[in-house]
Amino acid sequence: MPIAYPISLQRLIGYFSKLPGVGKRSAERLALATLKWPENDLAGFADALGTIREHIHPCRICGNLAEEELCPICQDATRTKSIICVVEQPTQIIVLENAGCFRGLYHVLGGKLSPLSGVGPDNLRFRELRERVAAGGISELIVATSPDVEGEATAHYLADEFSSQDISITRIAAGVPVGSDLTYADAATLAIAINARRSMQ
Ligand code: ZN
Repeated sequence: MPIAYPISLQRLIGYFSKLPGVGKRSAERLALATLKWPENDLAGFADALGTIREHIHPCRICGNLAEEELCPICQDATRTKSIICVVEQPTQIIVLENAGCFRGLYHVLGGKLSPLSGVGPDNLRFRELRERVAAGGISELIVATSPDVEGEATAHYLADEFSSQDISITRIAAGVPVGSDLTYADAATLAIAINARRSMQ
């Protein structure tokens, strides 16, 4: 009969192996490492995990990850409120903010149109974006979805959706290599992509 880890350790290994990029061997290493942690680190880790869902939720306006009702960007009075950069995920906001090349607001769609994966317009935060634009004061939407087939389809859907409105729809320039994820683009590439954005109308 094969020797197995004790049940409690197997349980922990099972949870670690649910994490993206963590295989069975890595999950074992992580679980075994926590056995060596001091008690207060373990308690802090358990608390951070146990309360993350109650502390973090989508910003009421833009969908960014927020600890309060609004994210820090939507709360910031110095941001340019007339320009909204539309992204797929909150991680892309982190990248754009770290690059420091954009001072407007954001809108998180929550993904991109992907008929093959069953992601249609109703599964993304298009309605919330329409409401923001309808509320007025928006002069430009910068579409920063990824430059792959689905990201381009999403960008064109947006351009169609807002074509009758008196706002400009622009697309970040193809400085980001085709097929790559905006999340991994570097700051200089992003600055070029934003500054060289082109009209979609
Ligand atoms: Zn926000």
